[in-house]
Amino acid sequence: MSMKPTSPSVALVTRVYRAHVFHIAGAPAQDDVASHLVSLPDGALVVDADGRVAWVGPYASLPEDYATTPVTRADYLLPGFVDGHIHYPQSYATAAHGGGQLLEWLDHCIFPTEGQFADPEFAHRAARYFTRRRIAAGTTAAMVFGSAFPVAQDALYEETLKAGLRIVSGRGVQTVGPAAASSLLTGEKEAIDLVADEIDRWHAVDTGDPRTARVQVGIVPRFSLSVTRETLAAMGELYDEARGKGVYFHSHLNENNRKGDGEIAAVLGAYGTETYLDTYDGRFLEGSKVGGRTLLGRRSTLAHAVHCQPSELARMAETGTSIAHCPTSQLFLGSGTMPWRATVAAGVNIGLGSDIGAGDEWLISRVAGDAYKVHISEEGDAGTALHPAELLFAATLAGARALDMEHAFGNLDAGKDADFLLIDKNLWEPLEGMLTTGIRSDDEDQATLEELFTLLVGLRQPAIAAVYVQGREAIAPPL
Ligand SMILES: [Zn+2]
Repeated sequence: MSMKPTSPSVALVTRVYRAHVFHIAGAPAQDDVASHLVSLPDGALVVDADGRVAWVGPYASLPEDYATTPVTRADYLLPGFVDGHIHYPQSYATAAHGGGQLLEWLDHCIFPTEGQFADPEFAHRAARYFTRRRIAAGTTAAMVFGSAFPVAQDALYEETLKAGLRIVSGRGVQTVGPAAASSLLTGEKEAIDLVADEIDRWHAVDTGDPRTARVQVGIVPRFSLSVTRETLAAMGELYDEARGKGVYFHSHLNENNRKGDGEIAAVLGAYGTETYLDTYDGRFLEGSKVGGRTLLGRRSTLAHAVHCQPSELARMAETGTSIAHCPTSQLFLGSGTMPWRATVAAGVNIGLGSDIGAGDEWLISRVAGDAYKVHISEEGDAGTALHPAELLFAATLAGARALDMEHAFGNLDAGKDADFLLIDKNLWEPLEGMLTTGIRSDDEDQATLEELFTLLVGLRQPAIAAVYVQGREAIAPPL
């Protein structure tokens, strides 16, 4: 039985948050984010009683109406981080020694830990842990790869609602797999019935409207190797019905290509398709013939996309499908690096994903730091030093765009929901040292970019003083 969802009952009052504010204003294209960077060194964010941004600007220009409004101060204020790909049933599996790349790690580390979530008591504890970790990392919105077990999904949604965070999730679907995954498998019909039931019970449960809901549901097969043509066809039919209600689709794509015998070769071998993406695009029959409906679209996100063919990137751009870029995880599993410039040039929206547990870092700004490191290390002309505004965009607004929720959050434009973090550098001594004493350019604009870069890449969880969604501070559950 799931708990009846409730909204937090304490009324909000209008409040001013005074700090150095950074955000990416408006709705820029990926190649134009630097010109949309806003820096307000002594800035003010006014949050109204509905939890929306009423005004943002220099504190010195605060409108008269707010002259007596209570003020909360912090060193920095950023939009909430968006994690576009994170595995709830791998909450305890970070930094697990897999003894190999993706397929070995799944067998040795992941299928066993995910099996533990069948136990209701374990699942409830894990849901609290997962929610606590999200708040500590300032992840106000997330696309959460779910557990196979409905009892664990119910616990996840319950804890997320109580804490006041945003979530899109869906049970991880597997209808075929190796012996190690046996407890996670279901039959074909049961797989679809369970997804349909999760949509019925949890999708937009808090407001009834997918444009405003904090809790939403997706169709989430683990990857093409964990399902069959029959599963993909049935999911396509279900998605055709559910798409109009704002239901999401989420999975993995082109992650690991180890010496021709890894994940990608296995998918192409199993399906006989021209590309991996074809399996999610209804073209899952031999030779990429059409066998069902597509799962791609504006509410679809595919994690990794490290080894895409140009036609796959073009198709993602055409359908509005986003990529969750997970450089921390790709380093951990030796998967390679999503080519930044080619992917951006293709016009695909790119958010960031921690990919907990192959990623061993919950903090999305650190994932952005890893993105900086891997892309500056790409060979030849592909190598690029990402602009600080690109890192902030990837960690916030691009993630909201991937969730098709850019109208509601992702930056601090007036009228949006007030999803934001307060950061106090003194809460983590190295951050204070870097930001206070670090070398800065004599050029003021350049110095601002350097400060943002240090804030994002140097940030660690202890310096996140408070996390707000729709103007309300997120409250961590007890362990
Ligand atoms: Zn993943």
